[in-house]
Amino acid sequence: MTFKVAIIGRPNVGKSTLFNRLVGRKLALVDDTPGVTRDRRVHPAKLYDLHFDVIDTAGFEDAAASTLPGRMRAQTEIAIREADLIFFTIDAKSGLMPDDKTFAEIVRKSGKPVVVVANKAEARGAQGGMLEAWELGLGEPIPVSAEHGQGLPDLRDAVIAALGEARAFGEDEEHADEETAASEVLIGEDITDPDAEPRYDDTKPMRIAVVGRPNAGKSTLINALIGEERLLTGPEAGITRDSISVDWDWHGRRLKLFDTAGMRRKARIHEKLEVMSVQDGLRAIRFAEIVIIVLDATIPFEKQDLQIADLIIREGRAPVIAFNKWDMIDHPQELLAELREKTERLLPQARGMQAVPVSAETGRGLDKLMDAVIRTHRVWNSRVSTGKLNRWLEGILAHHPPPAVAGRRLKIKYVTQAKTRPPGFVVSCSRPDAMPQSYVRYLSNSLREAFDMPGVPIRIALRASE
Ligand code: GDP
Ligand code: GDP
Repeated sequence: MTFKVAIIGRPNVGKSTLFNRLVGRKLALVDDTPGVTRDRRVHPAKLYDLHFDVIDTAGFEDAAASTLPGRMRAQTEIAIREADLIFFTIDAKSGLMPDDKTFAEIVRKSGKPVVVVANKAEARGAQGGMLEAWELGLGEPIPVSAEHGQGLPDLRDAVIAALGEARAFGEDEEHADEETAASEVLIGEDITDPDAEPRYDDTKPMRIAVVGRPNAGKSTLINALIGEERLLTGPEAGITRDSISVDWDWHGRRLKLFDTAGMRRKARIHEKLEVMSVQDGLRAIRFAEIVIIVLDATIPFEKQDLQIADLIIREGRAPVIAFNKWDMIDHPQELLAELREKTERLLPQARGMQAVPVSAETGRGLDKLMDAVIRTHRVWNSRVSTGKLNRWLEGILAHHPPPAVAGRRLKIKYVTQAKTRPPGFVVSCSRPDAMPQSYVRYLSNSLREAFDMPGVPIRIALRASE
């Protein structure tokens, strides 16, 4: 399901020009005479990777005056009713007029999501109009030049912010990365909630799982984090347990922990289950946003450890390594350097992964571990604006463009971030099939560097540009 956009604003602000820009054809009449566009039309339009319909509307005019403006106003109100999103367009060059405020009021009353388009932003003196547009109380004005095609990346991001990712992209399977589709069913409320605030939200409980081989120290670590005595004396204020999870907070940050250790203990009673089953591990990983991998620092990076890490990354979760039993290590500095080097080498899929030495038994290093968890969660949620991405792309294309394949140079048109948690990018290019994996890896590494996203999986999807 695509969504419908109504471009609303008083005559002459540039609605028809914007309409043409989005629809990509010269359809609506453009004229300097106010009110020249009289028909309401609906046309398929796109803004980078967003596909939607635009309702072209006649300009708002004060209904009281004559019958023609009255009819135009009525049509506009119908358009608002039909629309899922309103582009409330103002002329930043001329600044706000009394009419703008009247119509802004009508738009506000409709309760529909709105993006304030400050058009003609390229004109000299438009800055003042931009600032005035805040007074409409409809949110941040997005500077755009419909005539020159400027500001469109930010407009695209504003649409997603106003509608939410799920609605902005419709039920478009193109954007449901196959690899993560299943896990998103479990984790997805943040992604699919149409009203979800795209900014980082640290008030929701962060979901954590603790995984690792038997005897690595998972139970000890969990108890140390939650506070052992409190656990022994049963649930208290701030700690609640249900069958699979424990809620508590760490210095004011709310956390929800998937308690595999507890489950495992129960299982042991029945059949002395020594190894956490793959099923449980997978459940824990899918439940979580951040997964702490507990490694026994005296025997780190066994095959099974690497398999777990790889699974976490493939599931799109962010791993944080705890090198446990650090109290038993004789040359901690040397070992830490060695283990961190190994981490980078063995797990290049999440370069820059946080790896923290801890002692679950003595409690040392736990603060640092939790800092690393919170930092990683932020990165996992990070969002890069389309404007920044495409400025980055310009640099890439200038210094390290895609190679030629069979004599034809591959072209990249634009890059957008289609999702977060983990960050996922869409690269629109000619002949996606021909794009070498090594170049995609280069893009991914460069994105990670440029936008400071260490230690989390980064997804890149290639799309054929039209
Ligand atoms: P409408 O009445 O709201 O549909 O406005 P139009 O699209 O017909 O545009 C009104 C006038 O503004 C025309 O002369 C356009 O060329 C001009 N215009 C539209 N967009 C821009 C822009 O981004 N910058 C400048 N400087 N002029 C624009
Ligand atoms: P799990 O199987 O991963 O849950 O591991 P446990 O938490 O049951 O710990 C396994 C063993 O390692 C126990 O004997 C713990 O006392 C011990 N252990 C756990 N953490 C530490 C630590 O930080 N230092 C030391 N020296 N021993 C630890």
